Amino acid sequence: MEEPSLPSAYDVALKQLAMAAEMINLDPNIHEILKYPKRCLIVAVPIRMDNGEVKVFTGYRVQHTDARGPYKGGIRYHPSVTLEEVKGLAMLMTWKCAVVDIPYGGAKGGIVCDPKKMSDLELERLTRRYTAMIADIIGPFRDVPAPDIYTGPREMAWLMDTYSQLHGYLIPEVVTGKPLSAWGSEGRLEATARGVVVCIKEAIKELGMGLRGLKVAIQGYGNVGSNAARIIADEGCSIIAVSDSKGGIYNPEGLNPDKVLEHKKATGSVVGFPGAKTITNEELLAMECDVLVPAALGGQLTEKNAENVRAKLIVEAANGPTTPEADEILAEKGIMVVPDILANAGGVCVSYLEWIQNLHREHWPLEEVNRKLEEKMSQSYHEVKKVAQEKEVDMRKAAMILAVGRVADSLKTLGLWP
Ligand code: NAD
Repeated sequence: MEEPSLPSAYDVALKQLAMAAEMINLDPNIHEILKYPKRCLIVAVPIRMDNGEVKVFTGYRVQHTDARGPYKGGIRYHPSVTLEEVKGLAMLMTWKCAVVDIPYGGAKGGIVCDPKKMSDLELERLTRRYTAMIADIIGPFRDVPAPDIYTGPREMAWLMDTYSQLHGYLIPEVVTGKPLSAWGSEGRLEATARGVVVCIKEAIKELGMGLRGLKVAIQGYGNVGSNAARIIADEGCSIIAVSDSKGGIYNPEGLNPDKVLEHKKATGSVVGFPGAKTITNEELLAMECDVLVPAALGGQLTEKNAENVRAKLIVEAANGPTTPEADEILAEKGIMVVPDILANAGGVCVSYLEWIQNLHREHWPLEEVNRKLEEKMSQSYHEVKKVAQEKEVDMRKAAMILAVGRVADSLKTLGLWP
């Protein structure tokens, strides 16, 4: 018998929107507008591979709404990228920017490719050609891309340079998440992780737990996962398990995040780290721990494995790691979930700070960026908590009520032209 396929990220996003719409009694006309991305661009990106052959890659840029400001969202390179996924993630970006109250709309981009099997030169040609093909719909006051899975500062520098070359002058504010040497912001690289850590700190206070000795398991050891591990370990927590696409490792005494990262850089995976037991990703998700941080791909906690989760708190660093069915199971089990649109908003908050610095041709010190980020995250956490208490709902529903309410207010104020 064929396995039923998982709902797409767009289906999940529509379901979450419908739930929020019902809770806030949303005007059906506004709901109708918000269901659809305003624009989906599909591009066929031809590049010359190192062996001389030409290969064509499918790329997407989806813009959900710009009711609150320029579209904003990352670009992901992954073989599993689909239009439905990018549409769902673009909508999620709208809610994320609204929940932390920054003046952006939502967008997302992606290229169907396997960057691990491509050379640096091939990736550069791919990024530059893709940028040229979406150049008409992006721009500093139009749509400002950022990094996501398997893209980082290097790709953002290529994007900025290509866009600038096309316009004939330097335009750093067209993209965020750039390297420091190319108009990037201090603290951007670890901003998402730092925001995740603010959420962990706020949530454990409520659960009556402290940082010292707090047992944390992290799925995914990329930018967000490895930085969250390092920052939270510095605060006295114990990172007992981490994983990546090749598998996981476990040490009840705690892992040294820097050494694990060195090992991953040297061998290509966290697996095989000396002194740690090898585990599967499923085992990591079911690990007995205080805090579980999914920081890899979406759709990881499902109706099939949510029952096995033994963490007391889940802080969603990844986008869409929990399906709605899993959410219900986790709620029944009394596990608190800090939702993605709040938990991982630290990245877009510092992207916003980077954009402001670029527009003003300024460069702020790390302390200033981190202070602004931590204030924003903690304030947003408490705003969501307040709604959760007032409406007697969980944090995801509260975050959606707040976010959808803010976007709906803007749409209502702007009216419908013509
Ligand atoms: P990354 O590419 O740096 O790291 C992804 C990590 O996930 C890698 O370690 C990879 O090995 C691992 N992984 C891939 N498939 C896996 C699997 N099946 N099981 C376990 N691990 C797996 O990406 P990132 O920037 O760290 O992003 C991670 C998540 O956080 C994504 O969902 C992304 O959308 C979200 N996010 C990132 C940012 C940011 O600023 N980078 C901001 C908001 C949200």
